[in-house]
Amino acid sequence: MHIRRSLDSIRKDIRARKTDLVSLVKEYITRAEENKDLNALVELYPDEALRSAEIIQEKFENGSEGKLAGLVIALKANLSYKDHLTSAASCSLSGYRSLYNATAVKKLIDADAIIIGSANCDEFAMGGTNETSYHGPVKNPIDHDRVPGGSSGGSAAAVAADLCLAALGSDTGGSIRQPASFCGLVGLKPGYGRVSRYGLIAYGSSFDQIGPITWTAEDAAAILEVIAGKDGFDSTASSEEVPGYTKLVKQNDFPRKIAFLKEAMEHKGLDQEIRDRMEGICSELRESGFTVDPVSFPLLDSLVPAYYVMAMAEASSNLARYEGVHYGHRSTKATDSRDLYLKSRSEGFGTEVKRRIMTGTFVLSAGYYDAYYGKAQKVRRLIAEKTNEILDEYAYIMLPTTPRPAFGLGTMGDDPVALYLEDIFTTHANLAGIPAISLPLGKHSSGLPFGIQFMAARNREADLLSFSKNLLDNCSRYPGI
Ligand code: GLN
Repeated sequence: MHIRRSLDSIRKDIRARKTDLVSLVKEYITRAEENKDLNALVELYPDEALRSAEIIQEKFENGSEGKLAGLVIALKANLSYKDHLTSAASCSLSGYRSLYNATAVKKLIDADAIIIGSANCDEFAMGGTNETSYHGPVKNPIDHDRVPGGSSGGSAAAVAADLCLAALGSDTGGSIRQPASFCGLVGLKPGYGRVSRYGLIAYGSSFDQIGPITWTAEDAAAILEVIAGKDGFDSTASSEEVPGYTKLVKQNDFPRKIAFLKEAMEHKGLDQEIRDRMEGICSELRESGFTVDPVSFPLLDSLVPAYYVMAMAEASSNLARYEGVHYGHRSTKATDSRDLYLKSRSEGFGTEVKRRIMTGTFVLSAGYYDAYYGKAQKVRRLIAEKTNEILDEYAYIMLPTTPRPAFGLGTMGDDPVALYLEDIFTTHANLAGIPAISLPLGKHSSGLPFGIQFMAARNREADLLSFSKNLLDNCSRYPGI
């Protein structure tokens, strides 16, 4: 199959009649069926996708196609898609079909994107390997013995294996950027509030954001332009006007001042090849006229503890509703109402989700609140202040996406804290509420890709995207380094 890497080229080919949307969708469906063993898509919608392809192809013929016509996309399983499975990869929602569309999903459909399937993920988006999924683990398409990352592991694997052109993921502490890094793709977490969270199954509500996983910065821009914006259903969605990202991503007059975090670069857990590559990129950038300076960020080691205290507290509150009465799996073995709550939740949730609900409940409990949750809130404030101080002077902060490339399947199961520590570089942007992108700029000697991450100030997604496009056009990228 001709492997397609950009929406622009697909739209040009359709307009020039070199291909048509129905054949394209058929290609993706065939690939999805041939690659079932990856376990990237938990449901495939071939009939509906083909029906939409016929309708949208006709729109191409009469010039009335929407902004995303030609885009075949997968949705992470925690995004509500009316009448379709929205399991959040949990047994507690195993048969649940959504009654409505998430705002981001509705906007995709209105812009003529075609939804091909539901992408596997960690249960309730909690994890970094996609191994906590009720639907089973996902294989990394680049190396089947490795994880694709998580929690949006199915989304990244589906794009990397060409089962679709792009996917939506959600990112609470790195779940778009880390799998993008492990699969050699672009992963964009917009700033908090840039995209409405209505219809996203909540994990940590003060962190959660929806965003795209793509091959190119241009496609990330095109998708963001459609899904961003205010929403009457989500009061945390920003009413800041949505810039024309599709045009802006191609501009050349973006700011050129970059800070890299000394503590991140020198971190003992960082793989030497990732460090070398980052230093190489710093030199390339300086040669092309960018300012690249080291800055100090002494709070680096506070990121993971602050994030996990707060994310687990929010998770314990958000998941209280799955008690078998209002929502979620209902046990048939219960003897009274208390037993119904107990058994429904014990049977419905997996080990990692239970661990987080219990830890989250503990840090919120009377007598411990100030010592844990209250303290984490204060640390979060300091992190945001220090980060914004740096971003007053520099347009972007450069740091690794992950300390190392994709781990082996089944190798991280016994030690949850070790896995949490892998989020050291991604949780920063969620705690500060700012946009961040992982770019596929590294190839490890093991053959695996790794990403380099850039953060920008709130509402600076346009600069971040045009800078990213420039970097991907001018630096060697994965694959083909
Ligand atoms: N790995 C992180 C966690 O387990 C991030 C998850 C996410 O961003 N959804 O919380």
